[in-house]
Amino acid sequence: MTKNDVVTRFPPSPTGMMHIGNARTALFNWLYARHCEGKFLIRIEDTDRERHNDEAVEVIKESLKWLSLDYDNEPESQYENRQRHIDVANEMVKNGQAYYCYCTPEELQGMRDSAKAEGRSASYDRRWRDRPAEDAPAGVKPVIRVKAPLEGKSVINDEVQGEVIVDNSTLDDLIILRSDGTPTYMLAVIVDDHDMGITHVIRGDDHLNNTFRQNVIYDALGWDQPTYAHLPLIHGADGAKLSKRHGAVSVQEFQQLGYLPESVMNYLLRLGWGHGDQEFFSTEEAVKLFDLKGVNKSAAKFDYVKLESINAHYMKEADNDRLIDLVAPFLQTGHDMIISEIGLARLQAGMDGLKDRSKTLVELASESIFYLVDADKIAYTEKGEKHLNADAKPVLEGLLSAMKNISPFTHDAIEEGCREFANAHADGKLGKVMMPLRAALTGTDKSPSLFEAVEILGKDEVCARIQKAIQHIG
Ligand code: GLU
Repeated sequence: MTKNDVVTRFPPSPTGMMHIGNARTALFNWLYARHCEGKFLIRIEDTDRERHNDEAVEVIKESLKWLSLDYDNEPESQYENRQRHIDVANEMVKNGQAYYCYCTPEELQGMRDSAKAEGRSASYDRRWRDRPAEDAPAGVKPVIRVKAPLEGKSVINDEVQGEVIVDNSTLDDLIILRSDGTPTYMLAVIVDDHDMGITHVIRGDDHLNNTFRQNVIYDALGWDQPTYAHLPLIHGADGAKLSKRHGAVSVQEFQQLGYLPESVMNYLLRLGWGHGDQEFFSTEEAVKLFDLKGVNKSAAKFDYVKLESINAHYMKEADNDRLIDLVAPFLQTGHDMIISEIGLARLQAGMDGLKDRSKTLVELASESIFYLVDADKIAYTEKGEKHLNADAKPVLEGLLSAMKNISPFTHDAIEEGCREFANAHADGKLGKVMMPLRAALTGTDKSPSLFEAVEILGKDEVCARIQKAIQHIG
C-alpha cells in the first residue's frame, strides 16, 4: 500500500452535538488523510432510529464545516446500508462462520449471572454454536452470532498503543443480527468500513475492546483488518472523562463562547500530539508534520485557560475585516447591535487596538461597543461612574475647550493637547485628565489606547461625549 491509498473515516453518531473529543478524532483522521494525500470519508452512524433526526446530522456537518475539515464523499448513512449488513450476516451463517442462537432472555440472564459470579468477561456459553438446525424451537426468532476463536490470543499492532494482546477466551460469540432482523453496530461498522475501503481506523481508545471483537468478524469474513490507532481520551482537570460538568464540551459551545476555529484546531492538535516544543501550527504545517507516531499514549487534560490564551494569540493574528465579520453576530445577539456605516469605519480603524485586548470574540464585541454607539447611548458602568465625580467636572469642561482647539485632530496632536492641558490644570498628572476622559468616551475605565480612540471617534463625537458626561455629573 502506498501512502496515498490511505483512507480514513469519521463515523459520528448524530447525538445533536459534536463533542470536542470527537472533533479531535475527526481532526486526526483528516490530518492523517491529508498528510498521506489519501481520502477522508464521513459516515453517519444513524441506526438508532428512535432518536434519529436530521438536525443532528446537520450539527455534525456544520461543526466539520466550522473546523474546515472537508471530506471526500457524500456522507454515508449507516442505516441506508442495513440490507447489505443483513446479507453479510446471512452469508456468514451459510458459510459456517456464524450461527442461529435461540436462547431466551432468561437463559441469557442466567449465563450473565454465572459469568459475573465467576469473574469471566465472556458470558454466552455457545450452546447453539454446534447444534443441528432440527433442534431449533418452533416460533422463536433467533439472533445470529459470529463464531469467535475458542483458543489462542489475538494481537493488534496499534499505531498509538503499540502491541496489544488479548486472550481469545475473553471474546464472546457476538450477536451480529438481532432477532428482529436488525444488524448490530459491531457488524455494521465492519461491513461499512470494509465497503468504504477504510485502511486506517483512528478513534478513541474507549473502542479498543470493540476492536478485538470486531476483528473476529473481519477474520470470519476473510477481510483484511485495517490499521488501528486508538487515541487516548480527553479528560477534565480532575482526571475524569471530559463532560459538561467540566465546562463547554461541544464544538458549538466553543463557537458560541467566541473562539476562532483555528484556535480550537491548534489546541486539539497539541492535545494529544506533539512536534518538539512547537506551540502553534498553521494548517499547512500540521498537514505536513502530522503522523500517528507523534500521538501521545496517555490521556490529555483539557485546559480551558490554555485554550483561551491560544485564542488570544490567534485573535491578534487574525485579519481585521474577518474579525469584523465574525464579531457582528456576537454584537447582534449579545448586545442587540448592528454595525452602522460609521461604526464600521471606526471598527476598521480601531481593530488593531481592540483585538490585542480581546481573548475571544465575546470580549471583542464588548470592547467594540463604544465605537458603535452614539454619544447619547453611552452607558456608564460602576467603574466608569467612579471617574465621573465632582472633581472630574472642571477637568472635563476644560478638556472640552482644549479639544475644540486641537487641529489637525490626530493622535499626536491629541496627545500633545492632553499633556499641555494636564500640565496647566492638573499638576502635570495626565492620569487625572485621562481617566475622566476615558469614562466619558467609553462609559468605563478600560479602553484601547485613548489617543487613538479619540482620533478615531473624531472631534465632534468626542466633544459630544464629554458634553454628555458633564451633564451627567450635573
Ligand atoms: N459511532 C461511533 C462513535 O461515535 C464511532 C466508533 C468508531 O469510530 O468505530 O463513537
